[in-house]
Amino acid sequence: MEKIFDDVYLVHVPLPKSPLKYVNSYIITGEKPLVIDTGFNTEESYSVLNDALSELKIKRPSFFITHIHADHIGLIGRFPENYGVHISEEEYKIIEDSSGTNDYWLRMNEYLMRNGLPEEDLKIAFRILNSIFVGTYPDLLKINFISMKEGSVITTGNRKLRVLITPGHSPGHACLYDERDEILFSGDHILFTITPNITWWPSLQNSLERYIISLEKMKEIRIRDTLPGHGEIGGEPYKRIEEIIEHHKKRLNEIMGALDGELNAFQVAASIKWNVMNGEWNLFPKMQKYFALGETIAHLIYLENMRLLSRIERNGKIYYKKILK
Ligand SMILES: [Zn+2]
Repeated sequence: MEKIFDDVYLVHVPLPKSPLKYVNSYIITGEKPLVIDTGFNTEESYSVLNDALSELKIKRPSFFITHIHADHIGLIGRFPENYGVHISEEEYKIIEDSSGTNDYWLRMNEYLMRNGLPEEDLKIAFRILNSIFVGTYPDLLKINFISMKEGSVITTGNRKLRVLITPGHSPGHACLYDERDEILFSGDHILFTITPNITWWPSLQNSLERYIISLEKMKEIRIRDTLPGHGEIGGEPYKRIEEIIEHHKKRLNEIMGALDGELNAFQVAASIKWNVMNGEWNLFPKMQKYFALGETIAHLIYLENMRLLSRIERNGKIYYKKILK
């Protein structure tokens, strides 16, 4: 546990089996203590976060979950003694939609298959995902969620934190902003050590466009300290925003260059450069192919909306080709 300010602590909650290694969970002490993000629903994650809370003598905190990904929300079921779990209404809708079933995620998978993901790859990727998700989402039905909107305020210790809804990385991703001290708890919206994954979601169609809009929105507030959901803290947010936007522009150009004739998203993903296994697509773990495909689809949809590509649907499968001008 690391003390960041007199009343704010950072806990590196381990994420077993994930290349992300750990999630940054923040604990704000004082009256009505608040925990921002949790970790996977595993014993290892639980003991680290629980020990940190015990050390700070916090018995009953409230929680704020930046988004629905299992590395942020997963552990919440193991802290039933709480004063409520704040989450954006969009993310709450996903919980309702997938309550007791895997429906929401199956819709996502079906869409990836329509975009060329081989069934065999999907099965393996989904088995890995499931090994992380199982035991996480069923618990969510019993949680005392408090639904948050843009501008909702959470009072904790001597701080007032405003909710900023920043769709893109997930449909209702939310950051928390302390205007007095200009601190942004950025979740997975702005990360410094990796680029946040942008994918297709059943409830967020043009996720890349929404993400870029949400990044631009961050330029309107004054940020002195950025406390992200993974990796290094306190980088330069405005510079990072430009870098991330630049990264996506490069990828959009690369995809335009790769589109030769009519291709599905899986074929496009295989022909662009990734920072995985030296870019050798055939050596990619299935899980990485799954993420790379989602990312590629988000970019293809963006280009389609820019009227640079057209989408062709044949026998339930989706293909793209350039619109020649
Ligand atoms: Zn995430």
